[in-house]
Amino acid sequence: MILKCIPGGIFLTNCYIIGDEETNEGILIDPGEQMDEILAEIKNSGLKITKIVNTHTHIDHVAGVQQAKEELGVKFYLHPEDEPVLQVLPEAAARFPQFGNVRVPEIDVYIEEGDEIEIGSLKAKVLHTPGHSWGSVCLLIDDHVISGDTLFAGSVGRVDLTGGTSMRELVGSIKSKLMTLPDSYNVYPGHGPFTTIGIERRSNPFITGDMDIL
Ligand SMILES: [Zn+2]
Ligand SMILES: [Zn+2]
Repeated sequence: MILKCIPGGIFLTNCYIIGDEETNEGILIDPGEQMDEILAEIKNSGLKITKIVNTHTHIDHVAGVQQAKEELGVKFYLHPEDEPVLQVLPEAAARFPQFGNVRVPEIDVYIEEGDEIEIGSLKAKVLHTPGHSWGSVCLLIDDHVISGDTLFAGSVGRVDLTGGTSMRELVGSIKSKLMTLPDSYNVYPGHGPFTTIGIERRSNPFITGDMDIL
């Protein structure tokens, strides 16, 4: 399995490319503002990107989707409960003029809990983890978890942005969908450094109970 992280944009958002060495196919996850770097990395990797899949649709994760769709000629996969977040993208773009003219991409394929998205001979299993946004998902590929803005190294996502629900629901999603995975599994968040399920289980204050959750 090939995994490349391309951080960039004003919020240093992690875009990921996941590829299958056997078939040379790959998927693009959360292409944000840093499209020049992302397209260069795809070219460099030699992978044929077959899908764009988003963990959720906050502007820093979705700003590059329309351009990526056009340049790569591929479909955009999203959980339907994040569609309302996507629809207010122009308002988010007005608040963050640094992003320039952000276009709202059309969703081509809806993904749901338990779906398996093909990446050549690999599969990305969809885990619906509402909290940071209604339709936030994590993607499980072998022992690798793309966690979006649901789980970070030592922290969790905010629940006060568009589509956010409650800290109780967010932490509930993490405990029921992610903390049931083995300690050895690697976690690749939407911002900041990589971590593992075991490290977060032992030391993330939102999970250990050291942080009061209202
Ligand atoms: Zn977000
Ligand atoms: Zn983010």
